Amino acid sequence: MLTTDISRMCFREQQEASKLLLNYRHIYDQTDGKVTLQMNENSGYVFLSDEEHNVWMMNGNRIEKWYSCPGCRHEGFKEEMEHDPNNAECESFLFDLGLITEEDKYEVEEWLKEIGQKLGMVI
Ligand SMILES: [Zn+2]
Repeated sequence: MLTTDISRMCFREQQEASKLLLNYRHIYDQTDGKVTLQMNENSGYVFLSDEEHNVWMMNGNRIEKWYSCPGCRHEGFKEEMEHDPNNAECESFLFDLGLITEEDKYEVEEWLKEIGQKLGMVI
């Protein structure tokens, strides 16, 4: 459950919110449209989000973009985003992030084709 109601934040979450606002200046030119401060009430994560559903959180003392792989929902900061691609969406996501090279991409495509053929699918 996401909320923008800061009265629902405990002190730790308020501190996290303060850090995000203080560091917003480092990412404001990466944001698209309205930017809101939000909290996930289940996880206690506090973050900034824009209209394109981009998310930024504090990674220690640095504000960093929080990624979610569209192919498999793997989540994390960039340093945590390296994962084995499960499908073509994972693969192009990893390529766009610069975590795999053109060569890796080719290998993965070949591998996906091979798997696809085994399963009788055409990719
Ligand atoms: Zn993925």
